[in-house]
Parts: sequence; C-alpha cells; structure tokens
Amino acid sequence: MNVSFYDFKSLHDQDFKKQYLERVSSILEENSYIEGKDNFAFEKQFAQLQQSSFCSLVANGTDALEIALQAQGVQVGDLVGVPALSFYASAEAIINIGASPVFIDIDPDSGLLCPRALKKTLETHELKAVMPVHLYGHPCAMQEIEALCSPLNIPIVEDGAQAQGATYLDNGKPVGSRQNLSTFSFYPTKNLGALGDAGAIMGSSEELMQKVVMIRNHGRSPQGHALIGRNSRCDHFQAAALLLKLEKLAAQNQVRKSLAKRYFEKLAPLPLRLSPETFLEHSSWHLFPIRCQDASERKELMSFLKERQIGTALFYEKALTEEMPLQEFPGDVTVAPEFNQQVLCLPLNPFLSLEQLEYVERSITQFYG
Ligand SMILES: *Cc1c(COP(=O)(O)O)cnc(C)c1O
Repeated sequence: MNVSFYDFKSLHDQDFKKQYLERVSSILEENSYIEGKDNFAFEKQFAQLQQSSFCSLVANGTDALEIALQAQGVQVGDLVGVPALSFYASAEAIINIGASPVFIDIDPDSGLLCPRALKKTLETHELKAVMPVHLYGHPCAMQEIEALCSPLNIPIVEDGAQAQGATYLDNGKPVGSRQNLSTFSFYPTKNLGALGDAGAIMGSSEELMQKVVMIRNHGRSPQGHALIGRNSRCDHFQAAALLLKLEKLAAQNQVRKSLAKRYFEKLAPLPLRLSPETFLEHSSWHLFPIRCQDASERKELMSFLKERQIGTALFYEKALTEEMPLQEFPGDVTVAPEFNQQVLCLPLNPFLSLEQLEYVERSITQFYG
C-alpha cells in the first residue's frame, strides 16, 4: 500500500477542475484580475467562518506577517518575540521589515511558545510585539500570553498559517477571532490552499485593518496615497480557487480531527510521545507530529516507513536558533532544538482512508514491536 503525505489528486478532483475552469473563463471575460468579486466574497466568508470582523487577502503568508507587524507600528530596530520552533518565515518576516527577532523557548509538551519563557524574555528585552505561532494547527496558550502582554501594551500578531479552523483553548472560538491581528497562509499544502501563493490578515480593529488594506496596495487610500506601502495584492484567480475550496474546509477539518483521534487511540500504547490530548478538539491538525526518543531512532523509523511506501516529513530540519542566517539573534533557548530532533510528522490529510491509516499504525507498531 502506498500512503503519500499529501494528496493533491483527490483535492483537485474532476469536479473542482470543472468548477474552477468555469470561474477562470468568467474572470477572463470580466477582465477583473486584481481585487475581483471573488476576493471580496472570500474575505467576507472567511471572516465569518473565523468569527472575525475583517479579513484582507494578501499575496502570501509571509507578507501577511510583515504587513500585520507594520500595521501594529513595528519599525526598524524594534524587537519582536517569536518562538524558537516555527517555519523560517516567522522570523524572516520580522527581519524583512528591519526589526529583530528575539527567540523564545517552546513548551516541552506542546512545542508551542512557552508562556513562562515569554515572561522571562519580557523581563530582559523590550519587545515591540510578540508573535505566537499556532504550529501544527495547535492553538497557543493565548490567555496566558495575553495576560503577560496586555499590561505592557505589547501587541500580539498571531501566525495562524497552519491553523485554519483551529479553535482557542480558553473559549473554543476560531483562531482569528481575538482582538489581535492574525495571519494565514494559503500555500497549496495548508489546510486551505490556493493554486499558488496567497495569504490573509484578520482583525477586529477597523483602524488597523484599514492600514493593512493600504499597505498591501501601495499605500493607497480613497484620498490618495497615504503611506509607503508595497504590492501584496492577491489576484482574482487565486481568490476564485480559495472561494471554491472554502466550502469544503469545515468538513475536511472534521475528517482530519477524526483521523487524529484514531491515531491517538492506536499509537497511545507505543513508546512515542504524542501532542497533549487537549489539542484533539482544538487543533486544525494541519500536521500530526509524533516524538521519538532521539534523532537516530527517528531516522530509523523514517526509513522503515519509507520502505513501506509511507510518506513522513520533518517540520523542520532545524530549530530557528540553529539556522545559520538567524544565529546572530538573541534568545535563551534550550528546549526547541532537542524537541525538533525528535519530531516526525505522519501522513494526515482529508483523503487518507482508514485502511491507509491502519497500515501506518501497523507499520509503526511493527517497528516498535
Ligand atoms: C507556511 C507558513 C508561513 C509562510 O507562508 P507563505 O504563504 O509560504 O509565505 C509562515 N508561518 C508558518 C508557521 C507557516 O507554516
């Protein structure tokens, strides 16, 4: 049996192709390539789904982070707190706008930004903003993070690139529904993916979101150019794909959740560490991380599964503090590199059959048996 990590063939099936090509044809007739009607429709519907007041489509998830930080007033020379384990872009976005990342260690159970480590960082560094990352689709401990940042008036920009459909631990509402600005990526592999690059920013403050809308389109306002912005518009063809795919997101996330539950039941007896069970209900299960004893056991398991034609993946090769271009930036970090050596992600996508999942479980059990 072959179990691939992603399944684009099922995602972009005949039905989708037909519907999408019809939209492409209409867009060509309408001659509306930028900020077309599907952009506005998607922004409205995605904001509703995530229970947020405003949504603004941009060119990609990295731009979304940069623009959100800029809208929050982060400037050249400012310090921004970011977890030591994330996709490279979380730190890169901070540097691209002339600010510097301060790396914050992760919680040893969840792999997410650790509130205790954040508290320590706030005592030693004057942060201009903090960027929690809902890694794997697991929501960060926002209540604790906000309790630390609010008294100091430090804005929070949530990197929700992997968390479309995830819900917060404290109130069960979707990621994007808090007062903070939140960003999303629609890179094709994400839970909601475009047919190329796209991203979005969400927020409840009209003032902040107006700034976002200006920055993404050359600083343009109804009264003329109001600030130095950039071009980070999302084209109509991507918005059309996103609007079509949005209809299925909730059901697909439901499938991800039930597959995750299944993995939990079957893998629990094995000498592996799984994510804390609280995430079963709240994660968008963008990825299903398991943790081996160490890097060498992980390597053996990976090749054992590969021989059985099961696709696995490392997210990520290195912790951010170990990335060569990021080594000059500060951070008191010990947990993230070790955690990162142990993590392996198992196939989990909405088209994975129970049969395939059982084959993965059996293979892993065999490895440890
Ligand atoms: C994918 C991702 C991004 C970047 O999104 P792009 O659309 O590729 O620019 C940022 N942060 C995290 C955590 C991601 O997973």
